Amino acid sequence: MPRTIAEHADAVAALLREGLSHRSVESLPVDAALIAAASDRHLGRVLAADVRAPIALPPFDNSQMDGFAVRSAELGDAGATLPVGPMIVAGAGILDLPPGTAMPIMTGAPIPRGADAVVQVERAVPAVFPAEGGAVTLPGGIVAGTFIRSAGSDAREGDLLLQGGTRLGPAQWGVLAAAGVASVEVHRRRSVLVVSTGLELAPPGEPLAPGRIHDANSASLGASLAGLGLEVAVETLRSDEPAELLALLRAREFDLLITSGGVSAGAHEVVRLALEPLGVEFLSVTMQPGGPQGLGLADLGRGPVPVVALPGNPVSVLVSFEAFLRPALRETAGLRRTRRDAERLPLAEALDSPAGKHQLRRALVHGGAVHMIGGPSSHLLGHYALADALAHVPVGVERMEAGEPIEIWRIDD
Ligand code: AMP
Ligand code: MG
Repeated sequence: MPRTIAEHADAVAALLREGLSHRSVESLPVDAALIAAASDRHLGRVLAADVRAPIALPPFDNSQMDGFAVRSAELGDAGATLPVGPMIVAGAGILDLPPGTAMPIMTGAPIPRGADAVVQVERAVPAVFPAEGGAVTLPGGIVAGTFIRSAGSDAREGDLLLQGGTRLGPAQWGVLAAAGVASVEVHRRRSVLVVSTGLELAPPGEPLAPGRIHDANSASLGASLAGLGLEVAVETLRSDEPAELLALLRAREFDLLITSGGVSAGAHEVVRLALEPLGVEFLSVTMQPGGPQGLGLADLGRGPVPVVALPGNPVSVLVSFEAFLRPALRETAGLRRTRRDAERLPLAEALDSPAGKHQLRRALVHGGAVHMIGGPSSHLLGHYALADALAHVPVGVERMEAGEPIEIWRIDD
């Protein structure tokens, strides 16, 4: 019995949950120089536990403007002319505001004890900072709290700063630094080995002998996986010999194996011949492209590791990644949102699809409508590279008319 996309997606997610469950954590320093120097070690990492604010943010009441710290009541409704004390700069300690005076204060400087508002310098007459001992005329009607950034207004001490499962991007590293957190626990990155198989494969850059093609899948899979924060190694096996594949796999260490090619019904299905005897299951999914799939745990000399065996056609590889691996790997990474958002938009032109298959067609969205790019065939990688959406034509649907809403996933990221 062939499986539906949803059933196979569940099976891949269950396999990775089981096979990668030994989730270990590591500690990363919140260190700007290291973040900048080794951004892939820091960017996109996923927090293993909640982080609470060790201090309030901001840590003290401070000025939101360059202006004058005052007691708002002393300005009344009419305003007042007040003698001016010393200037308070950002970085100064906490001073006292003597009654009946105003103190020039810079943005970020601590509000002096006794003050309850800041009047911007632009509203002073004249609109300049007089020297200490001078006087300033300020307007009335100032409400207490004006232009004061109060302590804890961003986060109070002990508040949840970042939830476990949060992906650490620039703003998250920034707030950890702001709160003075020295290090955080993150999930260890998974190591993935990608092996593209096929006697016909040659690396890009090598002139093609007759009958040969360049290996596209190592590049597209490598890019897909690296974007999920995994440690990725790629290998091209330029052979369809099962023994050579097994020798390569036994020489490597990895948490997860993803292969391309050699899984269907041909005479030289290298991945199937090598891994079926080790317990990897090969089956058919009612998806087009991407029908033949393999998955399972296999012991390649270091205990059982999860194996996801993808078909060889380059569009099948990318579509399989989107349908199965992306959500499962995002879940394994501890991310909260695992699925792409689905949108429904009108189809620009009619299309036909085999009733027994869930087609994932490549499309471009423009003018609010979904335009197909190229046909449904699995070798049309050039068309995929031009697309910004995958359009779903579910099992049971043989024809869709122009204007009918069609479900899409945006793939323009
Ligand atoms: P296979 O599943 O090995 O029979 O491959 C199916 C089709 O995909 C064949 O036309 C292969 O030449 C092609 N193919 C397999 N691997 C790759 C690859 N790494 N890059 C580009 N095309 C590939
Ligand atoms: Mg092959």
